[in-house]
Amino acid sequence: MVKNLKDIVNYCNQNGFIFQGSEIYGGLANSWDYGPLGRELKENLKKMWWKEFVTNKKNSYGLDSAIIMNPNVWVASGHVTSFADPLIDCKKCKARHRADKLIEDFTEGKVTADGWENEKIEEYIKENNIKCPTCGANDFTPIRKFNLLFESYIGVTDDTKSKVYLRGETAQGIFVNFKNVERTMRAKVPFGIGQIGKAFRNEITPGNFIFRVREFEQMEYEFFCKPDTDLEWFSYWKNYCMDFLKKIGLNEENLRFRDHSKEELSFYSKATTDIEYLFPMGWGELWGIADRTDYDLNCHINHSKEDLSYFDSDTNERYVPYVVEPSVGVDRLLLAILCDAYNPNYNENGVERELLKINYNLAPYKVAILPLIKKKHADLANQIFEDISKTYSACYDESGNIGKRYRRNDAIGTPFCVTIDDNTLENNTITVRERDTMEQVTIQVSELNDYIRKQLEK
Ligand code: ATP
Repeated sequence: MVKNLKDIVNYCNQNGFIFQGSEIYGGLANSWDYGPLGRELKENLKKMWWKEFVTNKKNSYGLDSAIIMNPNVWVASGHVTSFADPLIDCKKCKARHRADKLIEDFTEGKVTADGWENEKIEEYIKENNIKCPTCGANDFTPIRKFNLLFESYIGVTDDTKSKVYLRGETAQGIFVNFKNVERTMRAKVPFGIGQIGKAFRNEITPGNFIFRVREFEQMEYEFFCKPDTDLEWFSYWKNYCMDFLKKIGLNEENLRFRDHSKEELSFYSKATTDIEYLFPMGWGELWGIADRTDYDLNCHINHSKEDLSYFDSDTNERYVPYVVEPSVGVDRLLLAILCDAYNPNYNENGVERELLKINYNLAPYKVAILPLIKKKHADLANQIFEDISKTYSACYDESGNIGKRYRRNDAIGTPFCVTIDDNTLENNTITVRERDTMEQVTIQVSELNDYIRKQLEK
């Protein structure tokens, strides 16, 4: 595992995974663009999540709701009044900090100040003589609440101008569509609705590459269940999420549950757990799993005056379902995957190489098509590329010696390298080299598709 975040940033930049946003204009702080490989990796990750949470589950439905919603949604959900972080300014150097994170960083994660009252945070900072990380002074302003919602306006003239918000999470789109999905899918509680999409937060201290950004993607799942079955489901989803992370290849040693203490729990939540990952900068939240009770649906019932209750025809009861929510950021998870898989000096059996030891299904390219000698083998290699790329994302590389091309593909995690040589011309056989074992097998061209499918299913 890579130890330094800078190495990951450089690696991503050099290999076409992630570039600095608006780079030719000097960039925009903490904004990032996904390059060709980053885009593929991200898409594969979203596909795996979608499969595990939506398509492979009987009682599960997908949704793609609008980013800009009626502003009352955000009033009802409480975001307009309380989606805020504690902002504290250093009087000396004017640097702005998130006060709870100052405490977390100071105690190296041992104390979590999430959910503390401002006075308590201020006292803790004073008593422990916590200093400004930028200039070292200990002279802070009082804490102010800073709302994270991005505001915008719609309308063509000033008269019709009205304030809207970019969604701060995708979950609210799910809650306001609860009845639509239930009705049109004839869904029976318990059931879940999943959504993947952009969310926006005007973070006070974005940073650590794509760990905390202002524009990011979330994969959120709202599971609606009968009251009093929620804690059972909470435990189910906790384990399901952890299993998913292991399935996509994250090292167990870098993962842990962190249950929220009573003090930290939101007032409406019966239980909340974060799955944390050991990033190069320390343990950090990767996935939040919360038992949100009937809070969200009730908020929307009260504000919209619509009936969002559910009639359970099996028991003849009417109730407002409880909700268990597993919510994970695509970008943050992608960072964990890259930190886990990237090894600049991977050494096994005495061979040292730069390796992205990523789950084969996540790899940006599944197969690299490599003609041994360009002049002799390129035509056939091109045909094979055209054929295989109909099913699998493939790259074609004809420059440099074959060893170099293998190394290049190891570095970006390509599971299979296919060499086209004289044997291919003579008897239609190709050599397939597997990334992790570096073993080579000879198969017929016509077997390639099946060979890759079988390896990916393993
Ligand atoms: P944090 O305490 O790190 O600010 P949070 O508790 O506010 O996170 P949630 O509102 O629970 O986060 O969001 C669910 C998930 O979305 C997080 O677990 C994380 O993976 C992701 N996420 C949240 N904020 C950001 C961000 N600014 N940049 C990238 N991902 C984010």
